[in-house]
Formats: sequence, C-alpha cells, structure tokens
Amino acid sequence: MSTIAKNIAKVGARIREAAQASNRDPSAIGLLAVSKTQSADAIRVAFAAGQRDFGENYLQEALDKQQQLSDLPLTWHFIGPIQSNKTRAIAEHFSWVHSVDRLKIAQRLSEQRPDHLGPLNICLQVNISGEDSKSGCAPQELSALALAVSALPRLRLRGLMAIPQASDDPACQRAVLASLRELQQNLGLDLDTLSMGMSADLEAAVTEGSTWLRIGTAIFGARDYASPDTEQGTP
Ligand SMILES: *Cc1c(COP(=O)(O)O)cnc(C)c1O
Repeated sequence: MSTIAKNIAKVGARIREAAQASNRDPSAIGLLAVSKTQSADAIRVAFAAGQRDFGENYLQEALDKQQQLSDLPLTWHFIGPIQSNKTRAIAEHFSWVHSVDRLKIAQRLSEQRPDHLGPLNICLQVNISGEDSKSGCAPQELSALALAVSALPRLRLRGLMAIPQASDDPACQRAVLASLRELQQNLGLDLDTLSMGMSADLEAAVTEGSTWLRIGTAIFGARDYASPDTEQGTP
C-alpha cells in the first residue's frame, strides 16, 4: 500500500472515531484532500485509494493538474485567496469555491459561471480569529454578504468556511470552530455546509459539526514550497 493510501486510511479512522465520540454520522463528513504543491501523480495515487474531492489554492497550478488528470472523475474545490481577474477560470473549472469573502467576487463568479455546469457551490470565508493578515469577511459583515450572495442566480450558497489561528489546545480549537457553527445557525438561511478542520484540528472540527474537512499534510505529507512546479505567492 502506498504511503498516501495508508494516510487516507488513517484519516478515515480518525474521522470515524471522532464522529462516534460525538454521535455524528461519519457519512455526513466529507474529506477534501488539499493537494496544493502536490504533483498530479500524488493525486492519482489518492484517487486509486478512493479519494474523489481535491482542494487547490493556486489557480495556475490547479489548472495544470486538472489538464493532466482530465481522464479521472474528480471534483475540484478552490480554497485559496481570489483575485478578481481569476474569477472566470475559477467559475469554469471548479465545482466548489470555499473562499468567497466579498460580494464583488461572488457577483463575478455568478456572471461567469457557464450555464451548462449548473450552480457553483459557495462557502463564505469568515475571519473568525480576527487576525489582520487573514482573508475572510468580518463576522459583523457576514449577514449582509450571505443575503446578497444567496440571491445570485448561478451560485448556490452552501455554508461557511474558516481557517482559525493555529492552536494546540483542543479546547481553544473547539471554541473557535463552535463560533463558526453559531454564526451559520444565526444566519437563518438554509445552509448545509461547514468547511472547517485541517490536519491539526480534525477531531475538534468533527465535534463542532464540520461537513468538509480540508486535509493536506495528514494525507500527502509535508509540503515542499521550494518545488519549481508551484507558484506560491501568485494565487
Ligand atoms: C493548506 C490548506 C489546508 C490544509 O492544511 P493541512 O494543515 O496541511 O491539513 C486546509 N485549508 C486551506 C484553506 C489550506 O490552504
């Protein structure tokens, strides 16, 4: 068995155990393999192990890999910062976008989504830890943004996404993730998705209601940002 296949099995076991401990149905928790900086070959290995959903942060890198993997039935999720000149390619080449944090980007995605692909699934990214440097809309701005996005014709607003400030303390992890769930509940919209939980806070995220775990390192190993194939800094 490949290392990647073993890692996917281990992540699956972590998800099942955490789901059981919090009385959740593990089949309601999706696993998004975050493949930024990883090769198309690594994605092929993950596919052979049963993985279907992949998350990418850097547009050009993602488009290159999509082309190399066009023979596989994969579902692609865009999870990185979005510049407005990249919205057309994102609207045309992804099924989900987890990182929408302003109305202008959502409007462009809706205008540019090809009709034949059906609605683009959207999560609004919230700056839940209040860090200056992170993307995401402020919690106070979320309600107005969610209402406006839910009215756009070629988008389907599914829920919220966050990248909390890293913490080793499970209680701190849970408190922040719970606040994202509460924000979602307080919106009063018909939303079914919470995109939260990474390699280090998977268990806390399952406990607090995650429906998409975004897992990179625990599946593919440490990322090598020095690789010439990647374009860190030019998302
Ligand atoms: C890289 C990344 C992840 C995966 O993080 P790991 O700690 O490697 O699991 C998840 N979400 C986003 C938005 C990322 O950029």
